Amino acid sequence: MDASTRAATEESDRSEAVVECDRVTRRYERGGGGGWFSFGDGGDDRPTVTALEDVSLAIERGEFVGLSGPSGSGKSTLIHLLSGLDAPTEGTVTLAGEEVSSLSQKQLTRLRLEQVGIVFQRFHLLPSLSARANVALPLVERGLGKSERREEAADLLERVGLGDRQDHRPGEMSGGEQQRVAVARALAGDPLVVFADEPTGELDTDTGGVILDLLGDLAEDRAVVLASHDEQALDRTDRVIRLRDGQVKDD
Ligand code: ADP
Repeated sequence: MDASTRAATEESDRSEAVVECDRVTRRYERGGGGGWFSFGDGGDDRPTVTALEDVSLAIERGEFVGLSGPSGSGKSTLIHLLSGLDAPTEGTVTLAGEEVSSLSQKQLTRLRLEQVGIVFQRFHLLPSLSARANVALPLVERGLGKSERREEAADLLERVGLGDRQDHRPGEMSGGEQQRVAVARALAGDPLVVFADEPTGELDTDTGGVILDLLGDLAEDRAVVLASHDEQALDRTDRVIRLRDGQVKDD
C-alpha cells in the first residue's frame, strides 16, 4: 500500500462509527418479572417500564459526545446498551463493528475488555491496591504478563499526570487524583470508546475541569461519551445528545 492509499484508508477508518445503535428500545419488567404469567399480545397493561424507545445514533472516532437529560431519562440505560453491558429489547447495537447480539457471552466479554473503558462517578477503585495495581487490573484479564502490566500501568498513570503517585493507595489521594486513576484504568488496553457516567459529580469545579480536559484529550484518537447533568461540562463536548423520557430530543 502506498502512502496516499494508506492515508486515505486511515482517514476512512477514522470516520467510521465506533459504536452505534439502530432503533433501540429497552423495556424493564416491573418488580423483576417472575415470568410465570402471560400478558397475551403485549398490550398497554404489561407491567413494564420503557427506559429507552426507538433510539438511533452513531458515534465516531474522534468525537467527544455529551449525553444529557433529566434523572430517569435513560442515560444510564443507553450507556449500558452501548457498552455491551445490557441488551436491547428491540433494535441493534454495533460496537467496534460487531453486532452485539450476534456474539456469544465469551466473545462479548472479550470485546468489552478490549474496546470499552468506563469511568464512574464514585471512582470504583479497590482501596487496598496501589494506583498502579488498580490500573493494571484490567490488563490481568487481558492476559498481559506482570512486567508488561507494570509498565503499561506506569505509562497510563504518567499520561494522567500521576507518574509520581504510582504506589499510593486511593485513600492517600484526593478525589480528583482518584478519578484520574480511574481514567487511567479505563484506558488500559487502549479502548476505542470510553464512557464516563457523571465523572465530575463528586468533584469541585476546578478538579472536575481537569478531568474534563483529560477526557477531551482522550477523544482525539477514540470516542468519549460523557453523561452529565452539568451544562458547563457539556459545553466542553463537540456534540450533545439530549434524552427525555427515553427518546432523543436533540442531537
Ligand atoms: P438516567 O440514567 O437518565 O437517570 P435510567 O437509564 O437509569 O435514567 O432510567 C430510565 C428509566 O428506566 C427510569 O424510569 C428508571 O426507573 C427505569 N429503570 C432503569 N433501570 C431499571 C431496572 N433495572 N428495572 C426497572 N426499571 C429501571
